[in-house]
Amino acid sequence: MYLMKDITRDGNPVLRKRAAKVKFPLSKEDQDLAKNMMKYLEVSQDPELCKKYKLRAGVGLAAPQVDVSEQMAAVLVPPLEEDDDHQNNKPLFKDVIINPVIVSESVQYAALTEGEGCLSVDKDVPGYVPRHDRITLRYQDVNGQKHQVRLKGYPAIVCQHEIDHLHGMLFYDHINKQNPFKAPEGTIMIN
Ligand code: ZN
Repeated sequence: MYLMKDITRDGNPVLRKRAAKVKFPLSKEDQDLAKNMMKYLEVSQDPELCKKYKLRAGVGLAAPQVDVSEQMAAVLVPPLEEDDDHQNNKPLFKDVIINPVIVSESVQYAALTEGEGCLSVDKDVPGYVPRHDRITLRYQDVNGQKHQVRLKGYPAIVCQHEIDHLHGMLFYDHINKQNPFKAPEGTIMIN
């Protein structure tokens, strides 16, 4: 299982590289990579295990963050707390997305009021990160199965953050340098 020592940090050139497309069927290494990245997210979201292994909780982890320059990212967006009625507590989005492409995006922007964080960025970088509120995402899963999904709000933001990692971008690249808390007009703010 990955620990914080395995996570590449800002300054490591792998985080600024364009990742290579993944070939199917997946090699044993790529299968393990997918499994271990999702495992990190699952363990990190369990408060006790997170503490035990000294992890930072995460909702997404991209392959370059574990020093593999390939187009693969694990995404695990937990259910909203208000949905916590046992009926509807499955994750808002959970999959390992491989060779992901955003095929369409809304003109409407959205941003998290708290700003974004990243397992690879140790310092806090305050500011709004404008993202597209809705995206249509095309990707392959670990079996090579093709998916096309529409995402809105938080899960859409998480996937855009992870896909940025595959293109060598980090969240703070999107923050307005002159005025970090200035988002494009009409941006939906998400708590
Ligand atoms: Zn990140």
